[in-house]
Amino acid sequence: MLNVTKTFLPEISEYISYLEKIWHNGQVTNEGPLVKELEKKLIEFTGVKHAIYVTNGTIALQLAIKALEIKGKVITTPFSYCATLNSIIWEGCEPIFADINSKSLTCETSDISSKIDSETKAILTTHVYGNAGDLEAQEFLANEHNIPIIFDAAHCFGVNYKGKSIFNYGTVSTCSFHATKVFHTIEGGAIFTNDDKLAEKIRLLKSFGHKSDDYFLPGINGKTSEFHAAMGLVNLNHFNKIVEHRKLVFDWYQTELNNLPNLKLFKWNDNIEKNHSYFPVLFDTESNLLNVVKEFNQKNIYPRRYFYPSLNLLPFVSRQNCKVSENISKRILCLPLSSEITYEEVLEVCTILKTNLK
Ligand SMILES: *Cc1c(COP(=O)(O)O)cnc(C)c1O
Repeated sequence: MLNVTKTFLPEISEYISYLEKIWHNGQVTNEGPLVKELEKKLIEFTGVKHAIYVTNGTIALQLAIKALEIKGKVITTPFSYCATLNSIIWEGCEPIFADINSKSLTCETSDISSKIDSETKAILTTHVYGNAGDLEAQEFLANEHNIPIIFDAAHCFGVNYKGKSIFNYGTVSTCSFHATKVFHTIEGGAIFTNDDKLAEKIRLLKSFGHKSDDYFLPGINGKTSEFHAAMGLVNLNHFNKIVEHRKLVFDWYQTELNNLPNLKLFKWNDNIEKNHSYFPVLFDTESNLLNVVKEFNQKNIYPRRYFYPSLNLLPFVSRQNCKVSENISKRILCLPLSSEITYEEVLEVCTILKTNLK
């Protein structure tokens, strides 16, 4: 069986060596030494001033919205995982969709701009597939209107933009360390910011809002365990090797699938150093995509429709049109990509794709 991704698992002995540390320390959660060590390494790795390690990428978004005291309309993308949208709604805000650019698949700056009004409290968009859209223009727009901009950078661990970590952008950037992501801690996520005050507030909010006997804010439990941090510390040592293999796979796909009729490959922003987390292909029609997926599934191959459906069409949001996102979400498919997939497997995927492409 070949899935869209396969979770990287290190040698069990490496993980056990960290478990021994946990037993030695006697602390299993509540900002233990391994959580602190992982946060320190995340800061070193990204060059962002603050990294706050939390339970998952969704709570990372919620904590960012909460800490920035965003209440009201939030301009967001229809082309993302539902967690982006859900975090907005869960925090009692109203999502206003800005359609995406057909190339970057991130929000079109002019559409964000046209939807901003006096009731807009924030912008929250996604760097889809670890790609960058109009980052600077959107930051500028947010600054101009004096509202925060949150980047859901769940796909972006290891991604650089213009030579520095993409997590440096936005008022806040969040990441997911879920088992399906390129770097994982089983479950987990992080909030990155260069703002000292905001970082302190988020830290407080993720630990119930109190420091020992001093109660400041109605916080939540967004803490992570030492067991999760341990997986992160081990996996971080393998990260370069993982990305190296993924880059190879990427090149194999690109060579095999270049210049096919009725199939387009995704192009990343020239200023991006990729983490090779996804390999999306765009079909000319949805029926072509569905036909190919059927053939894949019969051979036990399970690519994923990242992202389908367009979030503006979900039954619990008010009707808003996003023509580009609706069109692309029907036709885009992410092919299997992992640190373990072999050349033979990639060739098989490509052969099935090519023989069934009409
Ligand atoms: C995975 C993902 C999330 C959610 O992260 P979790 O750690 O699973 O909660 C949010 N946004 C995007 C774009 C994602 O891909």
